[in-house]
Amino acid sequence: MGILDVRTALVSGAARGIGAAVARRLARDGARVLVADILDDVGQRTAREIAATGAPAVYVHLDVRREEDWRAACVLARALFGGLDILVNNAGIGEGGFLEDTSLEQLHRIASINVDGVFLGMRECLPLLSTGGKRWAGGAAIVNLSSVAGLIGSPRLHAYGASKGAVRLMTKSVALECGIKKYPVRVNSVHPGIIDTDMVQLLVNGTMEARAIDEPAARKFLADRAPMGRMGKPEEIASVIAFLCSDDASFVTGSEVVVDGGMTAQ
Ligand code: NAD
Repeated sequence: MGILDVRTALVSGAARGIGAAVARRLARDGARVLVADILDDVGQRTAREIAATGAPAVYVHLDVRREEDWRAACVLARALFGGLDILVNNAGIGEGGFLEDTSLEQLHRIASINVDGVFLGMRECLPLLSTGGKRWAGGAAIVNLSSVAGLIGSPRLHAYGASKGAVRLMTKSVALECGIKKYPVRVNSVHPGIIDTDMVQLLVNGTMEARAIDEPAARKFLADRAPMGRMGKPEEIASVIAFLCSDDASFVTGSEVVVDGGMTAQ
């Protein structure tokens, strides 16, 4: 028996990086997984790899900015698996730059994925989650990917940080609304520190430029920002998310869970 046996999970941005690690972990813990992304080839490969382990996993093309994509994904979840119990709003983009170099278009592009995507995902999936959650002692679960950049300021990341700060408070508000309405749905945010994925290359490039250092030195500089002296691995975010989705976290809602190797403890 896995801690997520026969629950159905949708993970956005699950083709690669943290999202793929989450999809793999939830499947390993017993969930049936919808691997959602816009990178169709990579996403299909991720879903096939998971399915090869014996866990039901299906790829779905989902651009988190599009209401119609969310509606189609919900229809698919119901048709294939009878509903939805877990939503991980993981899809996100990271773009940086100094304020004077940031266009309004860039600010809106980041927000359209990182904020609108989380909003639409929660709103469109809530009816299925409210029903699905009645079957589990700990209810259904929504986990939204924020960031340490949603907790503390970071130079060159004002637009990204604003989007992740928005995710943090949207999470808490929706958790309270679920409480008021007595929906069996818990809603939490996870705040990774620096995790070694494709996205971290943005920080590596910015650090190389700002400090005039080479890539290994930039990676070491970033790793040293955490007292643990290294970047995190996607699997170290996935294990925390699996816990939040399980009945072991039955009294955890509206929380912000920091997974950063101690970076924000300083
Ligand atoms: P990544 O770039 O490796 O993966 C992001 C995934 O999101 C990709 O598969 C991409 O195709 C998908 N995506 C992008 N736009 C999309 C859209 N419109 N619709 C659907 N999918 C879309 O990044 P990652 O490091 O795995 O990041 C995952 C999440 O974790 C993001 O929300 C990110 O902001 C957050 N995060 C990452 C770090 C880090 O250091 N890597 C730190 C804090 C927070």
